[in-house]
Amino acid sequence: MNLNRPLKLKNRIQPYAWGSRDALRQLFGIANPDNRPQAEIWMGAHPKSPSMAELKERGDQPLNNLIAEHGDQLLGEGVSRKFGKQLPYLFKVLSAAEPLSIQAHPTKEQAEKGFQRENQAGIPVDAGHRNYRDDNHKPELIYALTPFRAMNGFRPLNDIITLFRQLDSSVLTELLDAFESNLSEAGLKGFYGHLMQLDDLLRKQAVTEALAVAMKSEEPALQELVKLNDKYPLDIGVFSPLLLNLVELEPGEAMFLDAGTLHAYLEGTGLEVMASSDNVLRGGLTPKHVDVAELLGTIRFIPKLSNQIKVDPEVKGNSVNYPVPVDDFAFEIETVDSLTDCRSPETVELLFCQEGNVEIVSDDEEIKLNAADSCLLPAGVHYKLVGKGKIVRVSCKV
Ligand SMILES: [Zn+2]
Repeated sequence: MNLNRPLKLKNRIQPYAWGSRDALRQLFGIANPDNRPQAEIWMGAHPKSPSMAELKERGDQPLNNLIAEHGDQLLGEGVSRKFGKQLPYLFKVLSAAEPLSIQAHPTKEQAEKGFQRENQAGIPVDAGHRNYRDDNHKPELIYALTPFRAMNGFRPLNDIITLFRQLDSSVLTELLDAFESNLSEAGLKGFYGHLMQLDDLLRKQAVTEALAVAMKSEEPALQELVKLNDKYPLDIGVFSPLLLNLVELEPGEAMFLDAGTLHAYLEGTGLEVMASSDNVLRGGLTPKHVDVAELLGTIRFIPKLSNQIKVDPEVKGNSVNYPVPVDDFAFEIETVDSLTDCRSPETVELLFCQEGNVEIVSDDEEIKLNAADSCLLPAGVHYKLVGKGKIVRVSCKV
């Protein structure tokens, strides 16, 4: 079978409840006849929902099976050695009409230990209370296609104190006093830990007191608290906007989320690329499993400064690269205007057409990508891009 050519992909849409019902139609013309939420389009080889590779000889094949069979040829030398015989990244279009859970992802080391521990405890990998579904870290980058609102990393410690003091909460006063007398990583960890572990009665009282103040406030963090409470009444996660930086990415801006960074996506459509993993530790705003002890052991309690949030893009000719401090993935957008130089990447690439019509022309075959189409480029394939449009290129470093 000739795998020395671009392989067009068919990708599944995940209908998670928080997904937008019309954003993908507006951006890409993707139909939604049943009016279901269209939360994520997955592109990659994740066994939960692998892309199907179009092969004329054999019909459509799940990409994970194809890689299991022909990984050495597809991935490129060095990829299997470094990441195992798998596609190191997973790429998504993500479209949120509602907030996603507050979460943090483990380091590689934490994931390896946690995965082993839960295996030894005999917890099935697909069990609802399982924290570690694989042994990998999950750094991620989100690139905004529409204005994209999110929370990313802790605010400066004094800002957290100031915002919580505005609530004038009898439940939280003592905790705030203790935190204020120890303005440090440990102080924040203590405060957050106590907050997350308030018993039901105190939690409800704390949120109720907070709402009474926040409903009359013009402070954006408090207004966000009210909005979150509409969706998740009395959930401890509604305090997150007072703890975390509120961020709005404009289209074309991106941010990177490292292991241990507490974060949540609130609203908007973007492209998300991550290491191939499903390891999420949650801190509220979700009906799913929340393991506070494990979360506290994962979060880095270090404030993130406003200039540390967005990725500084590097422009090179017609390409814009969004550098990330991990090797599992790289993310670049190329504007195609007639014809590009020939490339022959050493490692497997995934191309996604963000807009326009672009042909991928290789020695053996040419395929057409319209908006939202994607293809896999096995390592070593010579190709050039012809047409007009924007091509997102996901790759990895070995
Ligand atoms: Zn995340």
